[in-house]
Amino acid sequence: MKALVKAKSEPGLWLEDVPEPEVGANDVLIDIQKTGVCGTDLHIYQWDSWAKKTIPVPMVVGHEFVGTVLETGSNVTDFHPGEIVSGEGHVVCGRCRNCLAGRRHLCAHTIGLGVNRPGAFAERLSLPMTNVWHHADDIDTDVAAIFDPLGNAVHTALHFDVLGEDVLVTGCGPIGCMAVAVAKHAGARFVVATDPNSERRALAKKMGATRTVDPMAETLTDVQAELGMKEGFDVGLEMSGNPNAFRDLLANLCHGGKCAMLGIPSEEIAIDWNTVVFNMLTIQGIYGREMYETWYQMTVMLQSGLDIAPVITSRLPYDRYEEGFAAMAAGGGGKVILDWTT
Ligand code: NAD
Ligand code: ZN
Repeated sequence: MKALVKAKSEPGLWLEDVPEPEVGANDVLIDIQKTGVCGTDLHIYQWDSWAKKTIPVPMVVGHEFVGTVLETGSNVTDFHPGEIVSGEGHVVCGRCRNCLAGRRHLCAHTIGLGVNRPGAFAERLSLPMTNVWHHADDIDTDVAAIFDPLGNAVHTALHFDVLGEDVLVTGCGPIGCMAVAVAKHAGARFVVATDPNSERRALAKKMGATRTVDPMAETLTDVQAELGMKEGFDVGLEMSGNPNAFRDLLANLCHGGKCAMLGIPSEEIAIDWNTVVFNMLTIQGIYGREMYETWYQMTVMLQSGLDIAPVITSRLPYDRYEEGFAAMAAGGGGKVILDWTT
């Protein structure tokens, strides 16, 4: 079968013929329809220092996907051929204290799909049944292909209550933009989104931001005054990994404000700890998605009117993946989807 492989220890990905995946007794074999390209895949493509020390070569990459069930192992009773499915890209041990307590997103032995085990940028994928998520028959398969990053947005945006609250989102990449839509859908009053990139700000506006802000040109204090806010943002969602964005966010939270932090900083960040202490701020790191409460929340929010389709800005057949990665590297657009059915 065809797959996108990190075949050599150098920048690039290669479309190659690889052996069919094996289907164990507890596995589901999935016929891949569409895949989403993640920032992680771009890191692997570009072969940065994180990728070099993390990815064994050769490796089939990719972890955002939708497909249909082709075949199931002998222990699998609740998936059937033809059903539309996605999957959680973190394969957990199931035996550690966190796994046994149902906190599987906190498993210390997580194996990453397309990072530590063969991934989804392939015609077929075999995955343990405990990682497979069943979609409704009428789901938009473009949206189903990006449940993984939508899950990051949902996990972050719903970690603290946002109903009636004023929310600040720093970073309008695909995940920040989806978090804007989720916070609005969940009943936030104002959702203000910052990004120095004008294309990204336009996307955040499309996704429902009350106001977008160029942090290089405006201050959040002025924007708060313009909106009639008196005490700061109730909830901050850090979606950029940028030190200035994080500092700006903390400085603009209300007393008792809460920050959910998904963005991954590439360096240590110095912050004003006095603000954290005297204003009694809460900073919560967020990793991955809750298995499977976040998946449930995504499913039902889409059924109750959440629309994240505008975040998808590029759709390509899989053999034009180079164009997709170039679009990602350029930085301005939203999600890139590769179609494996062509
Ligand atoms: P992205 O790189 O596409 O978006 C980041 C955005 O931040 C860009 O649009 C950039 O212009 C913007 N930005 C840069 N400087 C800024 C500043 N000073 N103020 C405001 N915005 C600024 O990333 P993404 O794919 O949307 O992911 C968002 C973040 O979440 C990334 O840091 C990513 O690494 C991280 N992530 C974390 C997890 C997790 O489990 N914790 C999972 C997926 C992604
Ligand atoms: Zn575990």
